[in-house]
Amino acid sequence: MVTTHNLGFPRIGRNRELKFALEKYWKGDISEQALLDIAADLRLQHWRDQSKLDWIPVGDFSLYDHVLDMSFLLGNIPARVSTLSTSSTIDKYFRVARGRSANDIAAQSCVHAGEMTKWFDTNYHYIVPEFERNTKFSLNANHLLEKIQQAQQTHSQVKPVILGPVSYLWLGKSKDSSDKLDLLEDLLSVYAQLLDQLKNAGIQWIQIDEPVLVMELSQEWKYAVRKTYYQLQATPVNLMLTTYFGQLQDNLQLACELPVQGLHLDAVTAHDEIDKVIDWLPGHKILSLGVVNGRNVWKTDLTETLNWLEPVHARLEERLWLAPSCSLLHVPVDLNSEQKIDADIQSWLAFAVQKLNEIEVLAKALKHGRESIAEILLENRVAIASRKQSKRVHHVDIKTRVLEINEAMGVRQSPYHQRSIIQRKQFRLPLFPTTTIGSFPQTQEIRQTRHNFRVGKLPEAEYRQAMRKEIEFCVHEQEALGLDVLVHGEPERNDMVEYFGEQLAGFAFTQFGWVQSYGSRCVKPPIIYGDVSHSQAMTTEWIQYAQSLTSKPMKGMLTGPVTMLNWSFVRDDQSREQTCMQLALAIRDEVLALEKAGIKIIQIDEAAMREGLPLRKSQWNDYLNWAIHAFRITANGVKDETQIHTHMCYSEFNDIMSAIARMDADVITIETSRSDMELLDAFDQFRYPNEIGPGVYDIHSPNIPSVDSIIELMEKASQRIPVERLWVNPDCGLKTRTWEEVKPALCNMIAASRYLARHL
Ligand code: GLN
Ligand code: ZN
Repeated sequence: MVTTHNLGFPRIGRNRELKFALEKYWKGDISEQALLDIAADLRLQHWRDQSKLDWIPVGDFSLYDHVLDMSFLLGNIPARVSTLSTSSTIDKYFRVARGRSANDIAAQSCVHAGEMTKWFDTNYHYIVPEFERNTKFSLNANHLLEKIQQAQQTHSQVKPVILGPVSYLWLGKSKDSSDKLDLLEDLLSVYAQLLDQLKNAGIQWIQIDEPVLVMELSQEWKYAVRKTYYQLQATPVNLMLTTYFGQLQDNLQLACELPVQGLHLDAVTAHDEIDKVIDWLPGHKILSLGVVNGRNVWKTDLTETLNWLEPVHARLEERLWLAPSCSLLHVPVDLNSEQKIDADIQSWLAFAVQKLNEIEVLAKALKHGRESIAEILLENRVAIASRKQSKRVHHVDIKTRVLEINEAMGVRQSPYHQRSIIQRKQFRLPLFPTTTIGSFPQTQEIRQTRHNFRVGKLPEAEYRQAMRKEIEFCVHEQEALGLDVLVHGEPERNDMVEYFGEQLAGFAFTQFGWVQSYGSRCVKPPIIYGDVSHSQAMTTEWIQYAQSLTSKPMKGMLTGPVTMLNWSFVRDDQSREQTCMQLALAIRDEVLALEKAGIKIIQIDEAAMREGLPLRKSQWNDYLNWAIHAFRITANGVKDETQIHTHMCYSEFNDIMSAIARMDADVITIETSRSDMELLDAFDQFRYPNEIGPGVYDIHSPNIPSVDSIIELMEKASQRIPVERLWVNPDCGLKTRTWEEVKPALCNMIAASRYLARHL
């Protein structure tokens, strides 16, 4: 016997039905009921997709975010929303999610949205629960119970998925600096009620997620875990304590000892801990192993998996359950939707639906022997072997080039203080030079033109002409405004990773490979399947053209290797570091091509550098070492007079300051406006040696910053950083704004810069 289950299914739908329904609802085009009907249909579809499993999950679906669902289930709704008298629950729900409900901007009833942050080390973002000293929880399980009833109509074994109390507290934020753990007692009483209600609804197994167990936990938090599960054991329902995204390490013993009936371990990232867990887990407990990777898109090597799984099964017998390593939220829905991926590559892939088939097949092999799936095993072996040997994946010359990388390739000719003298002489920029982060408004017309070209409606020559016109317009606007360092505006780019990936060997793109980023927002990460290289310059023609239109310096714009890596599905047959170094070499070539083409300032964006940090701090150095090395290889092969910029759009630098300094970019532009320049303290204390452009206004908002507000911010900046090393720029790229917003904002920014140059 072996039991199969799933930890969670993608919510968004094969054709992003949920996204489109949400957006229509928010615009007021469909009713609340219509939205709920679409959601219910999706759930039914997803249960059908999972119907071969022994246990199907319920409660993993969400209209926006499962952590926000949990807050509503626990009655933890911020007062600014719970006190709104007019609105329905769903209306309140969207107000916490996004500050407003359907179409009510005009009604002036916006409240500020809940903060959003990354779900562990994934690109999914959740709404941060808010806590205060006197937060009181109260159970509201109706929605969950309804969904359970729905599921029970067609399936006998239904397993609710809930976020565990410790992880729920851990993921939230105290708004009044009180200790979140003080709330545990009250929270546990509500969880106990919840478990009771689920029991009464006929539930036997509950998946209770405690991903916090893969984090470094202090004694207090470990104690909270212990207390929680000792207290909840009174409930007569089976708990499957579920961990994922990493190893348990020093929490392993704790996890094994807790009085629950089952433990789920991510057998991909925590493979080395399986034996220990089997040794330590009391004989009456179920062990669920996440044997299929829920974080990537590759087919599982079934033979190899069975090789290690069969002995495990022999030891555990019916105590073994099989599942994906984590929720399948992080992969696209169904590979069968794809019509255009190359057949070879397609044969190497598995999306959510295919991953569940793999679980099914593995279970069958354990139950009835490998012969029972002989044909499937053979087919799988062929696919795995074809990928291993494929000439499209492996290129000796690229691997050799990576082997030949040496330290010297990542070191500038002269240190910053010497090359800055050369650069100053060459550019003759004023004090407080002004620039932007790269993109300018992506108008409907620009998007339409790109679309027409892509679908073959517009011939290439005409497309190029249209883009040149856009660049020309953008350059003229920047000159008229009086910016000091210009950009071409990025009209030809749909996305900062996809644009480069499409021109590189080793990348594949899907049509429907959408993954939820937050709420209705989805991303379609490229798939890096093979050794990465590029055969021809990717950007020089556009940038050179832009430079030809102006005598001011034109900044060439590239995406860095670490960001390309972190925003893609990457290979599992070599280390991330290897792939990153290949990317670094490819982009290094582009940097050198731009330099050769006469471009004197080159920006290499590393928006996602921080995102790649491992969950455990003890592993940060290892990541930072190779990530920074990759950046240095990309950027630092240029001459002293070429000025390298980098850009990062977040505002937490304290703990990675020395790594940032090691990048040795001449100029770094960062997001700061919302932190009131306080973040520059880190740069100050660290004596960051190079130039900094702290963003002076938030590009996410349509508001036009005043001259005074910018002066004030820059005065604060200049108390921390010497004025000759300060630049003035917005927080990030301007592609989501309109020209009506951009022009006055930049005009004020430039006026502020000129004032500062005269007065400071
Ligand atoms: N150069 C990019 C832009 O301006 C940078 C985007 C980003 O940092 N996310 O759009
Ligand atoms: Zn940015």
